[in-house]
Amino acid sequence: MPNAFQPVNPPARVLLGPGPSDVAPSVLRALGSPTVGHLDPMFLQVMDEVRAMLRPLFGTTNDMTMPMSGTGSAGMETLFVNLLEPGDKALIGVHGVFGGRMAEVARRCGAEVVTVEAPWGRALDPDDLMAAAKAHGPFKVMAVVHAETSTGVLQDLAPMRAIADACGALLLTDCVTSLGGVRIDLDAHGVDAAYSGSQKCLSCPPGLAPISLSDRAVKVLTTRSHPVQSWYLDLNLIANYWGGARAYHHTAPVNMNYALHEALRLALDEGLEARIVRHARHAAALSAGLEAMGLSLPVPPAERLAPLTLVGIPDGVDDKAVRGRLIQQYGLEIGGGLGKFAGKAWRIGLMGAASTPRNVTLCLAALGDALRAEGFSPTGDGVAAAAEALQA
Ligand SMILES: *Cc1c(COP(=O)(O)O)cnc(C)c1O
Repeated sequence: MPNAFQPVNPPARVLLGPGPSDVAPSVLRALGSPTVGHLDPMFLQVMDEVRAMLRPLFGTTNDMTMPMSGTGSAGMETLFVNLLEPGDKALIGVHGVFGGRMAEVARRCGAEVVTVEAPWGRALDPDDLMAAAKAHGPFKVMAVVHAETSTGVLQDLAPMRAIADACGALLLTDCVTSLGGVRIDLDAHGVDAAYSGSQKCLSCPPGLAPISLSDRAVKVLTTRSHPVQSWYLDLNLIANYWGGARAYHHTAPVNMNYALHEALRLALDEGLEARIVRHARHAAALSAGLEAMGLSLPVPPAERLAPLTLVGIPDGVDDKAVRGRLIQQYGLEIGGGLGKFAGKAWRIGLMGAASTPRNVTLCLAALGDALRAEGFSPTGDGVAAAAEALQA
């Protein structure tokens, strides 16, 4: 019987959703390089260099800094499953989908979870966290999402260490959408454990989850009273592959690590400060354009997350029709709303290689067209407003 299956032939989209983001051509080339053995001396060097390049992006000197094999959620699961034991208590800030996911993962580790919430589209109030820390502590772990991709909110980490200290907790953060797009200072902010993902502001395909643990967190991990429930994610075992004895644990996704190596190299080449400024500039231009068109941005300016902009869907406009038109006419992907924002807001990402003036202009022009097709007339010229913001 003839084989009816054709090779996969993906279109070249412009990925302005919540991730994955556009992948730089040299990262795709790295992915296609020859596969070597996962203990090949050449690959061991790649592993060491990936670890070394991740540290400045995380703003840390933590020795235990490396990518886990899996997407961002695997990074999340890794930290909770390694740092929590059944019966431990965890204090978790929830201001969107990913905070909710952390609480769920912590519960599945057998932890007793106390949550502190913020309205969707707002940052957590440090006073609320402090009150919970004092009322319900001590806790083993306190966790907050740095960059809430479900709502487009950036959480200030500066006040968090004092709150974690008030309840004796390790401080854990989700940096999936901040790594490579927003400044992260794990050491300066006293963060003990953080995880990220390869496919947001690093502009690498999905598949790796960089993590970093302070010495204090490593001590908790090495002095556990029960073995880590997950064999695959047990950092005591994995640390012996990524460092130390280089003992086989699982086969690292070799080519994905080439890709991450190249993505990190591009980030350091650009310069972290320049990269952060670039994300901020293009997000500001996009916001200026959206507001000029008469669209609402639900997140207050001081709490906005540059790599992801939340924009309200005008009354009477069909969410799916607009997103469908953007894909069909322009090959452009933006994200739908999640949770409480489902059908009510769009999420526009300008992450990594996708954060360009060209994409800001394309997105505003295409969105204007799609809105007009749905019967909504923009009140002003978004493209012109963005151009003006870019010149400032
Ligand atoms: C994308 C994302 C995740 C999950 O990452 P996956 O790669 O989808 O597993 C977790 N947290 C935040 C804040 C994210 O944006």
